Amino acid sequence: MHSTSIVRVERDGELALVIADNPPVNTITAEVRAGLRAALVQLQAMPDTRAAVLLCAGSTFFSGADIAEFSGPPREEEYRALFNAYEDLAIPVIAAMHGTVMGGGLEIALACHYRIAAPGSRFGMPEVTLGIIPGAGGTQRLPRLIGAEQALNLILAARPVDAAQGHALGFIDEIAAADLRAAALSYARALLAAGKGARRTRDLPVDPNTATPAIFDAMVRRARESYPNRNAGLVAVDAVRAALSLPFHAGLEYETRRVNECKQSDESKGAVHAFFAERTVRRIPGLPQDVAARPIESAGVVGAGTMGGGIAICFANAGIAVTLLDANPQALQRGVDSIQRTYQSMVDRGRLAETDKQQRLALITASLAYEDLSDADVIIEAVFEDMALKRRIFATLDRVAKPGAVLATNTSTLDIGEIATATRRPQDVIGMHFFSPANVMPLLEVVRTDSTSPATIRTVMDLAKPLRKTPVLAKVCYGFIGNRMMEGYAREAQRMVLEGAPPRQVDSALEEWGMAMGILGVFDMAGIDVGVNVHKANAAQYPPDPAYYQADFALYEAGRLGQKSGKGYYRYEPGSRARVDDPQAIAILAARAQELRIEPRVHDKQEIVARCLYPLLNEGLRILEEGIALRASDIDVVWTAGYGFPRYRGGPMFYADTIGLPTLLQGMLDYQRQFGPMHWQPAPLLVQLVESGQSIEGWERTRQGARR
Ligand code: NAD
Repeated sequence: MHSTSIVRVERDGELALVIADNPPVNTITAEVRAGLRAALVQLQAMPDTRAAVLLCAGSTFFSGADIAEFSGPPREEEYRALFNAYEDLAIPVIAAMHGTVMGGGLEIALACHYRIAAPGSRFGMPEVTLGIIPGAGGTQRLPRLIGAEQALNLILAARPVDAAQGHALGFIDEIAAADLRAAALSYARALLAAGKGARRTRDLPVDPNTATPAIFDAMVRRARESYPNRNAGLVAVDAVRAALSLPFHAGLEYETRRVNECKQSDESKGAVHAFFAERTVRRIPGLPQDVAARPIESAGVVGAGTMGGGIAICFANAGIAVTLLDANPQALQRGVDSIQRTYQSMVDRGRLAETDKQQRLALITASLAYEDLSDADVIIEAVFEDMALKRRIFATLDRVAKPGAVLATNTSTLDIGEIATATRRPQDVIGMHFFSPANVMPLLEVVRTDSTSPATIRTVMDLAKPLRKTPVLAKVCYGFIGNRMMEGYAREAQRMVLEGAPPRQVDSALEEWGMAMGILGVFDMAGIDVGVNVHKANAAQYPPDPAYYQADFALYEAGRLGQKSGKGYYRYEPGSRARVDDPQAIAILAARAQELRIEPRVHDKQEIVARCLYPLLNEGLRILEEGIALRASDIDVVWTAGYGFPRYRGGPMFYADTIGLPTLLQGMLDYQRQFGPMHWQPAPLLVQLVESGQSIEGWERTRQGARR
């Protein structure tokens, strides 16, 4: 597109309007910046213009900088010069904002002289979550407008505020009463009538009362607490401090230097990788271009238990009518009651309006009769994990479902290909593996069999969007992507408690490293019986190791099922989820270790993290090599979206490259020497990449180039 059409200048009497139109969200791309520069030249050629209004067409004011440019050469100086040029204009410049105004979008507005916003619009500086700081003047201008303390509040919260809050803070001058363009023009005229001219943010002092040593100390603490293992929050504090100690232009230069430093950090590279990995998941190489998704207007869910209820909520939230079926009337009623409780608690917490609750509940129909599913465009089965039962249900679905309906299963461990052969339409059968609680967890593993048709795959990958899920495509294997990688990670955690590490020590090491929750705490939350039942039912799938998952088994046999029974790896006070260390659990684990003749060991943090993570990364390489996952970044999304892996470490495959594949291989071999070869076999791909001196990323690039 031509830059002239992306940014145009219009006249309204003595006023000029600079209007950007770069759908969908007015990202400040190189073309937009060129357009904004061209607009400046046009403004200068209109000497009779008395004020300029900067606004955007479409859904939002500038939503932010172009993150795709992050990996390229630094652009801060270009942004800085452009925004300074708008600030330099001799006539008043008014930013008229609507939609979601983030990062660079807000920074250009701060360089304007006045700001008016549509009610309901939102404003934020989310840079620290990408491992960087605002780099286009934000750290220097925001403190001049709202003080150092509030500027850092906004930057460190990294969450948007609304127009009313922005007005109260002081970076928004006016809230538009009517149509934003009309309101901005009349605001501009009112400013001129009152004799107001250019009012440059750079000329304002930072209020020293908002920038005391005590305030900065508190912000340093906050940056450390909110962003452990990361540096960007602390750099943001430094940059805001510089707004006080340095003249404006020197402050800008300081900001540029620091933001460019941040971009070189692992935390920023990891977070940016995670960001793009999520945007890549829907691209499916090999799927014919002309395959269209089938429309989904109604859904069915079979099984009204834990998962079925949550899945039904996802459809109702998406505005899709859903029939929830169970074979057992009491189970059906329990499912419906639980859905109602979930919605009620959202209303009680102010997260949902009562009318929305009613609307969503009205979309859910409970049923005991399979015939009621005959209209559904997609049916998801979520009954007990039992092959014979699932095959019976799919045979029934084959009878009642309309032609072309997607028939999906939520199974975690069963062979979906085998389920599919219970129907005469295996091309329509696919796995939709939700995670518990299904209405909360964003990850959806979409599992194709050898028979699943491209149209079925496309339909489900697209359906994920209204369901607000992040879909990752996988092939059938035991555990798919996520749970298969979890197996070795959890195995080592359990093994280490049998070697004498208290559960707290293992969980804390993993949490300090960045996992959202230590794995033993996760087991207590999910229910220790759940894992034990899976391991019992699938004993043949696991290596012949007498100690395998024996920590779980020991606790289970002692009646410790986790949070639901008040005790598992930890103890829980009634009504509380807080983990309390429990000598009884430790004694049970020690007794089991003695029976198994497991040698006690002393573990340091580094060993705990390495022993848990290396098997996880190694299995990821196998999954890549076997083609279970399409690409390394998909594996990363599974773990950041579904398993609490820290985004700032990019995901397991990105992290493997960060530490270096030779380190991973060496670690695997060292542990093989110590603990034997059963669990410590390096993935063939790992060995191959180390031998050829490649990274996963480099290997992916060559491979994807070859695919094209
Ligand atoms: P659940 O025991 O809570 O619910 C199963 C429901 O299926 C029960 O309400 C039962 O009455 C119903 N049911 C049984 N036979 C039926 C039939 N013939 N027709 C209709 N309904 C029938 O189980 P869950 O935890 O919701 O798990 C369901 C599925 O989801 C399983 O395949 C499980 O492996 C998978 N899964 C579970 C989780 C989890 O964390 N719970 C996570 C991902 C996947």
